[in-house]
Amino acid sequence: MDFLPVELEAYVTAHTRPESELLKKLNRETYAKVLMPRMLSGHLQGQVLRMLSLMIKPRAILEIGTYTGYSALCLAEGLRDGGKLITMDINEELAPMAQRYFAESPYSSRIDYRVGNAVEIIPTLEGPFDLVFIDADKVNYPAYFEMVMKLVPSGGFIIADNVLWSGKVLDNGGKTDPDTEAIKQFNDLVSNDERVENVLFTIRDGLMVVRKK
Ligand code: SAH
Ligand code: CA
Repeated sequence: MDFLPVELEAYVTAHTRPESELLKKLNRETYAKVLMPRMLSGHLQGQVLRMLSLMIKPRAILEIGTYTGYSALCLAEGLRDGGKLITMDINEELAPMAQRYFAESPYSSRIDYRVGNAVEIIPTLEGPFDLVFIDADKVNYPAYFEMVMKLVPSGGFIIADNVLWSGKVLDNGGKTDPDTEAIKQFNDLVSNDERVENVLFTIRDGLMVVRKK
């Protein structure tokens, strides 16, 4: 699904800060070599994540769902001096490529990359994380939200990707699937939770931006 008409998408990216050479290379290599390259955040969303991170100036970022490392490299740009980013992915086949790009970036010593199941890793982490990016398996979005709420301090942010799920969140009554149901549940959960305030950004496939009160 194209999220915007092609001409508008081109206009928007032409009027957005360009990708760095490293991100451009990672984008190209992911499309050439990796399955499901559309999972990569890409130029516009990557720059949105970078800008949000620069605005938040986090000391510690937690990312759930590294894929080839594109969004991690964008988020890392907003870290405060001495800040760190922990990112994780269950797919070990992606590890060599993600690691190679992290090593080539200015953030190699500040990115802590783990291979494993986020459901098992997150409970072993020590917070606080002032920015969390949820972008892994959609069925676990409601569980990830509850898990990371324990690690985010008051004033901290949680951002979740793909909350529009190509528009499938609207299909009610018709055919559905566990991913769509989980995303709908996540969106309802967040918008009804008194502990947080939120805005659904219509960037690409939808970014839920949540602030813990
Ligand atoms: N954040 C990346 C894209 C992530 S794609 C970007 O924007 O560029 C989603 C990733 O979540 C996939 O690489 C997949 O392997 C990973 N994933 C799926 N289930 C997971 C789990 N239970 N734990 C950790 N990672 C998981
Ligand atoms: Ca995504």
